[in-house]
Amino acid sequence: MKIAVIGTGYVGLVLGCCLADFGNDVICMDKDSKKVEMLNNNILTIYEPGLREVFERNKGKRLFFTDDFKEAVSFAKVIFLALPTPMGKHYEADLSAIKAVARDLGRTIDGYKVIVNKSTVPVGTARLVRKIIKESLEKEADFDVVSNPEFLREGAAVKDFQNPDRTIIGTDSEKAGQIMLSLYKPVARVDKPIILTSPETAEIIKYASNAMLATRISFMNQLSHLCDKTGADIKDVAKGIGLDKRIGPKFLQAGIGYGGSCFPKDVKALIYTLKENGCSASLFEAVDEINEKQKRAVIEKLKEKISVKGSLIAIWGISFKPRTDDIREAPSIVIMQELLKNGAKIRAYDPVAVQSVKKFYPELAGRIYFAADPYDAAENTDSIILVTEWDVFRNLDFEKLKSIVKNPLIIDGRNIYDRKELEGMGFSYSAIGR
Ligand code: NAD
Repeated sequence: MKIAVIGTGYVGLVLGCCLADFGNDVICMDKDSKKVEMLNNNILTIYEPGLREVFERNKGKRLFFTDDFKEAVSFAKVIFLALPTPMGKHYEADLSAIKAVARDLGRTIDGYKVIVNKSTVPVGTARLVRKIIKESLEKEADFDVVSNPEFLREGAAVKDFQNPDRTIIGTDSEKAGQIMLSLYKPVARVDKPIILTSPETAEIIKYASNAMLATRISFMNQLSHLCDKTGADIKDVAKGIGLDKRIGPKFLQAGIGYGGSCFPKDVKALIYTLKENGCSASLFEAVDEINEKQKRAVIEKLKEKISVKGSLIAIWGISFKPRTDDIREAPSIVIMQELLKNGAKIRAYDPVAVQSVKKFYPELAGRIYFAADPYDAAENTDSIILVTEWDVFRNLDFEKLKSIVKNPLIIDGRNIYDRKELEGMGFSYSAIGR
């Protein structure tokens, strides 16, 4: 199938590479010419395990990159929109990129096209896109709009795309539905079904998924405070409830709160949409509020142990989760800003996200020493704060660490260490809810 992907960011690039790998001819388009140039020069614009292999297998054969919108649109029968929908002024999903591209599509298309929205958008957006394209049509052209939300997780995006738990296709058109079913045939299995539904239902499924996962995280984070006060262990609580098949074990880890480009903005956008439709959003408002407070929990724990002013702190992990260089809404940013504000100095280590901090937070980056490894970050520090649970932090030589830190204190924001073991070695240890 001939496919265009408009927007070649995290979602668009993975989508384009993987669809080409299924044997389709794909043009990925982005308005950012620098990004396109980098990709054309074989420089991947994001870090994602397994992406380079898929990219190299297909680039120049079935996979091309351009900044020319018309070229991409006239080439393709199926046009995916993988455009940003960032948080707007009032925390709504900002649809300006989607609306602009819909207008351009109306001016460009001249034959049957399936316009597939991959971006996370509020319910009603497929209808809105259809209306905008229709109103902007310059030539008689038939088209359908499909809502096909993306569920990939950064850090496992390629695997998730190739092996999704489910594929949701929201459309009112039989013809577009059949085209989408044949496109997704390579990923359909008995236990990994394709669900055909209305565009509105598909749009709500995406927000419901993210809001449910965010709710589980805030649920555990709130309970972790009670564990702290009473001596209970939140990890055992998670195990104890997670073995109940109705609950299941995933997304029950207490920590420093959720971050990333999706959960925070999607929970806020869902709150906005609920209110806009005259519905209560109280559950999701609580989820959001708990999360905002939780980002500062490690600082509170640090303050219980030492005076932050004048201290030197090691930050282990900056990306919002392991195996990605994405720092959008990463709790690490709030934590580092707060530490600096409180008069601390920072030595930070992250396996891949340092460049992202330098690019998006140059002022913050200018005030931090970026270390070469976890030991370098820990040198002469008053405390280590584990922020992102990269594997590299799991098997360290703690005897060596003890000899290089000034004060053997570890604040474990992800509950990955064994308290007894660390205390046995002479560390002071503080974790979340245990
Ligand atoms: P991104 O910011 O990484 O990528 C968006 C790309 O679109 C950028 O490269 C930008 O230059 C380009 N762009 C913007 N306006 C354009 C235009 N008019 N024409 C062409 N290109 C344009 O965003 P992302 O993380 O890929 O997310 C895209 C959408 O997918 C969002 O709605 C997001 O919520 C959703 N989503 C993201 C993830 C994730 O893990 N990142 C997962 C599921 C869903």
